[in-house]
Amino acid sequence: MRTAWLLLIGTVATAGALWLAACGGGGGAPEFQQGDRLRVVASVSAVGALADAVGGDLIELEVLAGPGVDVHAFELSPADRRKIDRAHVVAQIGLGLDRFVEKSASKEQLLVLSDGLPVLREGHEADGAGSGEYDPHVWHDVDNDKRMAMTLAGVFGRIDETNAAAYMQNATELAGRLDAADAEIRALISEIPDKNRKVVTNHDALGYLLDRYGLVFVGAVIPALTTSSEPSAKDLVELADVIKKEGVKAIFAESSVDPKVAEQLAKDTGVKIVEGLYADSLGPAGSGADTIEGMLLANAEKIVEALR
Ligand SMILES: [Zn+2]
Repeated sequence: MRTAWLLLIGTVATAGALWLAACGGGGGAPEFQQGDRLRVVASVSAVGALADAVGGDLIELEVLAGPGVDVHAFELSPADRRKIDRAHVVAQIGLGLDRFVEKSASKEQLLVLSDGLPVLREGHEADGAGSGEYDPHVWHDVDNDKRMAMTLAGVFGRIDETNAAAYMQNATELAGRLDAADAEIRALISEIPDKNRKVVTNHDALGYLLDRYGLVFVGAVIPALTTSSEPSAKDLVELADVIKKEGVKAIFAESSVDPKVAEQLAKDTGVKIVEGLYADSLGPAGSGADTIEGMLLANAEKIVEALR
């Protein structure tokens, strides 16, 4: 069983205020002249999609760990460092997911979007408390996405004052699309019979989605919030037992992680494997899963198809 609880670090308003308070010292950020185009670097594709929805053509956006990239293993190239050097804002999720930007960006550039969000904590030990790490995959909950979009709009608008109202308008429109996707996903998930609402994923990346829509996390092939640990033979035997005992119908493997261990497990347990779930990254441009709401819907459709 998943042991998760909420931690409210603060509010989005506080996050914005802290960010501004951090301005004006240290390594700094390139100066922004009103009338310039705001230069934004996004650490991962989910942040890129949010920044794109909020900034659109008003910003110059660079995404570092793009679609299909294993964000937990990502390292900056010299070209990435140059993009960071030029950026007015370097937006990241935080919570250990995208530390790679912290090495290169100044604290004046960095905007940590998970600040102020209700963050899930994963407890892999039976006693739970204090044993888990914070789950950084926050964008799998539409409420978090709406708040992160508002944070981006607030920060973009405080720097690029000319376009402040447009950023806010874009964030509000995104919120509307996210609400519509949320309603659609709820309707889809209601088609899954209660007894089938058990999920095994490749690594523990979909906690926010499962929690929001009442699905039960039974186990992960890689029993961690990152992809960098490896399951032991004993872990896999135990997980195979759980899959059989709980009558799990499918194992979900995400697009950015090598599915070979999951495939072996599916073979051993006679359970089907569903590949291509967008856990750590969004889909490539034009896939329909290249926006936050498109990605959430694509995942829900795959899950429902397998568990219905
Ligand atoms: Zn992950």
